[in-house]
Amino acid sequence: MDKNAFWQKEIETLSRRQLEVLQLKRLKKITGRVAKAVPFYRERLAACRLKPQDIKSLKDIERLPFTTREDLQATFPFGLLSVPREEVLRLHTSSGTTGKPKAIFFTKQDLNQAAELIARCLVMTGVARGDVLQNMMTYGLFTGALMMHYGAEKVGMFVIPAGPGNTERQITLMQDFKSTTLHLTPSYALYLFDVMAGKGIDPRKDLSLRRAYVGAEPYSEATRKKIEEILGIDVYNSYGLTEMNGPGVAFECAAKDGMHLWEDNFLMEIIDPKTGQTLPEGREGELVLTTLCREAMPILRYRTRDITAIMPERCRCGRTHRRIIRIKGRSDDMFIIRGINIFPQQVERVLMSVRGVAQNYQIVLQSLDQMTVKTEIIRDIFDGSVEHLVNLRSEIEDKLRAEIGVKPKVDLVEPGTLPVSEGKAKRVIDQRKL
Ligand code: ADP
Ligand code: ZN
Repeated sequence: MDKNAFWQKEIETLSRRQLEVLQLKRLKKITGRVAKAVPFYRERLAACRLKPQDIKSLKDIERLPFTTREDLQATFPFGLLSVPREEVLRLHTSSGTTGKPKAIFFTKQDLNQAAELIARCLVMTGVARGDVLQNMMTYGLFTGALMMHYGAEKVGMFVIPAGPGNTERQITLMQDFKSTTLHLTPSYALYLFDVMAGKGIDPRKDLSLRRAYVGAEPYSEATRKKIEEILGIDVYNSYGLTEMNGPGVAFECAAKDGMHLWEDNFLMEIIDPKTGQTLPEGREGELVLTTLCREAMPILRYRTRDITAIMPERCRCGRTHRRIIRIKGRSDDMFIIRGINIFPQQVERVLMSVRGVAQNYQIVLQSLDQMTVKTEIIRDIFDGSVEHLVNLRSEIEDKLRAEIGVKPKVDLVEPGTLPVSEGKAKRVIDQRKL
């Protein structure tokens, strides 16, 4: 299959006007549906004096109530279900990086639709039947692995349900079955390379890898480049969240320049996280998503807490669904040192662009004005001259100060000594909260 292929060309290339007509129709329908079937939404809509028939244009979405993570937790487990229990085929819960789990339900049609969206994503990166997907996300309650699995099967890929961890076995699987495509987190991708290097494996020569879908946590463009270089592959950014099916919400096409968000399924808005006001295209803010097709559990205006912006320009691949820029971080990941707002990803971007820095790092917040960045460095430098180490440390300090506006303390540590996680990495240790 060539790189210009589509899975559902008609839908993926609808004109903006057609897309908006479809969105409005679906928005009315889904609002009507929850007003009828879900007491939580009936009350919320009544409180803002809005009847589904009052929705006349897409702009009217701004009159609908937000749904927050706390609402999902308060209505746990079945409070937002909008179909009879017998129609639910599957439960997923979020990985709970932050707070209590949330339960999300899927009907047969929901599962099929989720797999269709993944299939669109995979095809736009040029996969074909026979491509071998090694799926290294966690199987089970989380959406990451299973959703990708069903989407890949739809496309006709050969799927290895490897799950995360057991890195030696992962490498053996890659060798035995000639995996062409990986699905994994950025932190695990970097770690994987360390293990390969330790075993004397050159991924470019000894493996058949061509691409990886990397997501589930924020990472920088510098990290993408680093993974691409060391593994000799294309890395495509994959964004999703359990509340919106998991992966397959937004994904990069072959252009690798922003992620197409499937606007026939999700209505997106960017808001100012403080005021809740809608922001114009291009402005950075919190992503808010409304499910337009969900049966089991429609969600209106979900506050993702993820910070991004809509790219208004048409993409050269021909898809009309607008793209969002790389997620900058979660509004609740942000921390403040000396009054300056900092996202972990800004630190990561600096580290991954400095030669000699290895893959793993940690940010320790000691007080309101003191933070330490611990970073592993490559073996040769760690064992090398003190002068080199001192220079490297000041290079990192200076670059960090230029990027984030404060100069943190930098600790260079031995490779392999910071904790690694098989799932989502925990980068920030906030000692101020302990
Ligand atoms: P949680 O981590 O909240 O328990 P999920 O496992 O559903 O729940 O993770 C979804 C979250 O992961 C998103 O809201 C976002 O913060 C993060 N995420 C997922 N994919 C990406 C990506 N490609 N870039 C940045 N962040 C991502
Ligand atoms: Zn594109």
